[in-house]
Amino acid sequence: MLQGHCECQKICFKVSGEINQLSHCHCSQCRRLHGAAYGSYARVMKSEFQYLTGSNEVKQYASSTGSTRIFCHHCGSNIMVIVAAEPTVLYVAMGVINGNPILPSDCHHIYVNSKANWHSITDDLPQYDEDTVEVKS
Ligand SMILES: [Zn+2]
Ligand SMILES: [Zn+2]
Repeated sequence: MLQGHCECQKICFKVSGEINQLSHCHCSQCRRLHGAAYGSYARVMKSEFQYLTGSNEVKQYASSTGSTRIFCHHCGSNIMVIVAAEPTVLYVAMGVINGNPILPSDCHHIYVNSKANWHSITDDLPQYDEDTVEVKS
C-alpha cells in the first residue's frame, strides 16, 4: 500500500498495490516539467490507484500525442503521467509518494540519449535511449 500527496496536500491518493517498475526518465519534457535533471516514475496498476482527496483539483497537459501529464493546479506538483498506449497502468511521480516505498527489481533509466550534460548517472541501473515500454510494444 502506497500513499502520497502533492506539496499543498489538496490532492491525496493511495495505491493498494506495489510499484511494479521504476523508471528515471531523462527526456527534455520531464526535465522541464519537473524542473530537475530527470523525472522518476513508479509504474502502478490503474485499478489499484485511488484519489483520497482533490480529484477535482488536478489539471492535465498533453505533453505529446498519447501522453498526458496530471498535476495539481494549486501548487504545480507533478502527480502522474498517463500513457494512452498502456491503459491499465499509471506512471506516478516518485517524488509525491510518501515515505520509503518498496522498490521493484525493475529499475532503470530511459531516454538517456536526451540526458542533460550537467548531470551524470552514477548508479549501475540499466540505461536505455528510448522508452523501453514503447520499444517492446
Ligand atoms: Zn497541490
Ligand atoms: Zn520523460
